Amino acid sequence: MESILEVKDLHVSFSVRGGEVKAVRGVNFTVGKGETVAIVGESGSGKSVTAQTIMRLIPSPPSKIKQGQVIFNGEDLLSKTNKQMEAIRGKDIGMIFQDPMTSLNPTIKVGKQITEGLIKHQNLSFAEAKTRGVEMLKLVGIKNAEARFNQYPHEFSGGMRQRVMIAIALACRPSLLIADEPTTALDVTIQAQIINVMKDMQERFGTSIIMITHDLGVVAGMADRVIVMYAGEVVETGTSMEIFKNPQHPYTRGLLRSLPRIDQRKDEPLVPIIGTPPDLIKPPVGCPFAARCDHAMKVCERIDPDPTHLSDTHMSRCWLQHPMAQEVQSS
Ligand code: SF4
Ligand code: MG
Repeated sequence: MESILEVKDLHVSFSVRGGEVKAVRGVNFTVGKGETVAIVGESGSGKSVTAQTIMRLIPSPPSKIKQGQVIFNGEDLLSKTNKQMEAIRGKDIGMIFQDPMTSLNPTIKVGKQITEGLIKHQNLSFAEAKTRGVEMLKLVGIKNAEARFNQYPHEFSGGMRQRVMIAIALACRPSLLIADEPTTALDVTIQAQIINVMKDMQERFGTSIIMITHDLGVVAGMADRVIVMYAGEVVETGTSMEIFKNPQHPYTRGLLRSLPRIDQRKDEPLVPIIGTPPDLIKPPVGCPFAARCDHAMKVCERIDPDPTHLSDTHMSRCWLQHPMAQEVQSS
């Protein structure tokens, strides 16, 4: 599959009192054209920092991109000027966030917020932009779109506001959409509707999507591939099938047992992962999950394993699958 985005050996840190948090530590992944890739992990795993780095929205300082490349349509976004990035954001890469109230301007009518990008990036007249904006509102399932166009964000429910955000994000037909916890603030039935709107829009426009979430129900319903992050590293990647039916990394297995899912059965208890992630001011030299892992061996504390490729699409970073585990263990 032709890729639209390649993240290569990305390292991002930020300064806090007491040191430098190594929030993203050597992340690699690709997103294919028209593909939906989910990045999952607990808070603090580096998933949002990764997304914000792709968009170049991390505040710098205190954050610093230490190393790596983010190749989008053949060009490294990390070498773009802020001005060049402004032209790319909204036009070629759209974004939606957890809480639309923080990303929508409460004092501006939604119609104006939709047309702004179209006028700026596509040189449309206001009348043309309005036609496109109303059409987008209809496509994301907002009834009476003409009248709603002239309303303020507070006149919409949470779910409707998220639909408006999707309409804004996709109005310029970006080739990539980054959605950071897009359904987290919504209740379960509304979540399912928003996922359906996103799937529908993807089919219509062929948009590639990076979906950042801790909700595996969202992932199961939508993602082609899943990237599992832990302590700033990618610990497992695979197709949705591989991750849900055949998870290999103990952290992924723990996540699957610990997180609520939309399809959760009442008699299926949640089993939390005991312990907390490591302090990323001083990341462990070995496997970052070792302190919480039931399978940890001596080697795990000494050496962070390299990725083991289990299929063309399935990778796990764990000594349990590593072909050299025995030799390294006894060396
Ligand atoms: Fe557990 Fe060792 Fe695998 Fe890390 S490398 S997840 S500690 S078994
Ligand atoms: Mg986050």
